[in-house]
Amino acid sequence: MGREVTIVGQGLAGTCLAWRLWDRARDFSLVHRGDRRSTSFISAGLLTPVTGRNLNPSWRLEEFLSEARAFYRGVEMVLGEQFFHEIPIVRLFADADERSRFDRKREVVDRWVAEFLEPENCPYHAPHGGVIWQGGGWLDTRRFLEASRGYFREAGLIEVQEVDLEKPLPDGDVTVLCAGAAGLGAGPFGFLPERRAKGELLTVRILGFPENRIVSRNGWLVPLGGGLFRAGATYSWDDLTDTTTRSGRAQIEELIGSFTSLPCEVLEHVAGVRPIVRQRRPVIGRHPEIEDLVIFNGLGSKGVLYAPGVAGRLASHLCEGTEIEKDLNVRAFAE
Ligand SMILES: Cc1cc2nc3c(=O)[nH]c(=O)nc-3n(C[C@H](O)[C@H](O)[C@H](O)COP(=O)(O)OP(=O)(O)OC[C@H]3O[C@@H](n4cnc5c(N)ncnc54)[C@H](O)[C@@H]3O)c2cc1C
Repeated sequence: MGREVTIVGQGLAGTCLAWRLWDRARDFSLVHRGDRRSTSFISAGLLTPVTGRNLNPSWRLEEFLSEARAFYRGVEMVLGEQFFHEIPIVRLFADADERSRFDRKREVVDRWVAEFLEPENCPYHAPHGGVIWQGGGWLDTRRFLEASRGYFREAGLIEVQEVDLEKPLPDGDVTVLCAGAAGLGAGPFGFLPERRAKGELLTVRILGFPENRIVSRNGWLVPLGGGLFRAGATYSWDDLTDTTTRSGRAQIEELIGSFTSLPCEVLEHVAGVRPIVRQRRPVIGRHPEIEDLVIFNGLGSKGVLYAPGVAGRLASHLCEGTEIEKDLNVRAFAE
């Protein structure tokens, strides 16, 4: 048995790593800073196979998607609760360019297409048509994080503490910083090229709106059941606080208005910061000079897809000494 691992942070990264270590019966403690909401907690939890204006399948999609699915199902079995909801995603093309990009990429994305929609078959006004993606869905991140926290608390593994991220090393332990946006831009891993992005989203009630799939066009609407939807999200790079803004709210209300003219009641408005490292890929591994200081960060806008598989690789490095792949390894940035 190796030395104890201290995981700092209980967002998607820290929580998935905790489960991976738990499965390996490795001693660990999970430290987080209490009641403050993490980015993972406020996230919409979407897992979309093909994303962005460029309609590219996510990096190493097949591999990480199947690992994520198996992981969430496994945790659901242990906790007796469903967190990951696999549902279709209706993507409406925003303009003629997007439609022709889809036509050009059809072969690459075909595996994820459940149905192609001509404009006349679209459920909303969509002059350029759309597509229904399969294989995605959404994770109820709040329930996943809270239920996991409760489980590890019962096992005596949770500590509430604000850690000094500049000097996070308790003697003799391995410390894994899973601090999200707070762990980028400064501190021991401040050398990582980052482009953190703030995002806002709303939880709304739209009574009588029958949609039970995720719909997206320049943003998305996720059905939570009972007339509730989560809608978002904005992107901004100047203000990296988690303060909500009027303009963010207006932008999301406009998005909702592009899908339905039914009255919409805003129940919650939240903001968080996406931990984005250049190349938009997750990063794990040991500090180039401090062997026992480890990072798990860079989940960007795709924490739900990547956290389980990347946590598995990090756990197998920490427990079995498996080498970390170069395209995930933090040391590649220090070279
Ligand atoms: C508006 C918005 C919408 C999003 N929607 C999606 C989506 O639909 N799908 C998707 O996959 N991703 C989405 N994301 C991105 C997703 O939220 C992130 O990829 C993910 O949350 C990153 O997880 P993390 O564990 O790295 O960081 P975080 O969730 O930020 O967790 C960091 C943890 O570290 C702790 N911490 C920080 N500093 C300290 C300290 N000094 N001491 C102790 N603890 C500390 C925090 O308390 C927290 O527990 C969205 C993000 C935003 C902002």
